[in-house]
Amino acid sequence: MAAPALFVGHGSPMNVLRDNAWTRAWSEVGSAISPRAVLCVSAHWYGPGIRITAMAEPRTIHDFGGFPEELYRIRYPAPGAPELAGRVRELLARTPVEADDEWGLDHGAWSVLWHMFPQANVPVAQLSLDSRLTPAQHCELARRLAPLRAEGVLVLGSGNLVHNLREYDWSGRAGRPAEWAARFEARILPLIEAVDVATLGDYASPGADARRAVPTPEHFLPLLYVLALAGTGDRVSFPACGFDGGTISMLSVRVGQGPVRTG
Ligand code: ZN
Repeated sequence: MAAPALFVGHGSPMNVLRDNAWTRAWSEVGSAISPRAVLCVSAHWYGPGIRITAMAEPRTIHDFGGFPEELYRIRYPAPGAPELAGRVRELLARTPVEADDEWGLDHGAWSVLWHMFPQANVPVAQLSLDSRLTPAQHCELARRLAPLRAEGVLVLGSGNLVHNLREYDWSGRAGRPAEWAARFEARILPLIEAVDVATLGDYASPGADARRAVPTPEHFLPLLYVLALAGTGDRVSFPACGFDGGTISMLSVRVGQGPVRTG
């Protein structure tokens, strides 16, 4: 059976230290599968060009500021996946993909993998997001990665469907999502269930809510990579949901056949 593809709303890096409904859902999803390797497309590796990590021992990147010291001491020592990097370059062949030996695992990857595979024994490669591509071009690229699922590779998109830090409620009292955030997510959910990647790629067209929900594209795009891998017979399910600080959607989306556990 093909490996599922998974989009995870990662939210704050502090989730790595927490035990909450989201982190428990991630660990349930992880414990139900045993992929050969993980290919992670994280919001936090976004820039011109496409690169893939090809090192044997990726470092843990603490790509954030202002968090407790404890967080900077975390290391996620999963092995790299140089073979997978080679396979991805082969699948994307007509597009130049640079083998990278500098990046490592950013917090979009490790803060989630920490809970999914706590033993850090599944090899991981990260694929960067090319900031020059349109959403349709990202989808086209992602579709070329479809054979990976049959080869037992978990494609993990890590971002957030709604991601607005400017309006985030830092008081910790936000019990419910901002109205515009809830409206945007409600509009997007049926498109996810229908795997309508063409319309999802045009997420910004309706205006104001989208501009607040997706002020920049990098946290949204990993979702397209996951949905673009949906095939006949796949089911779409939502292992985690809810909002953090009212403006960060923690929705996770699982695409795949076989038993589904929900958190
Ligand atoms: Zn993020």
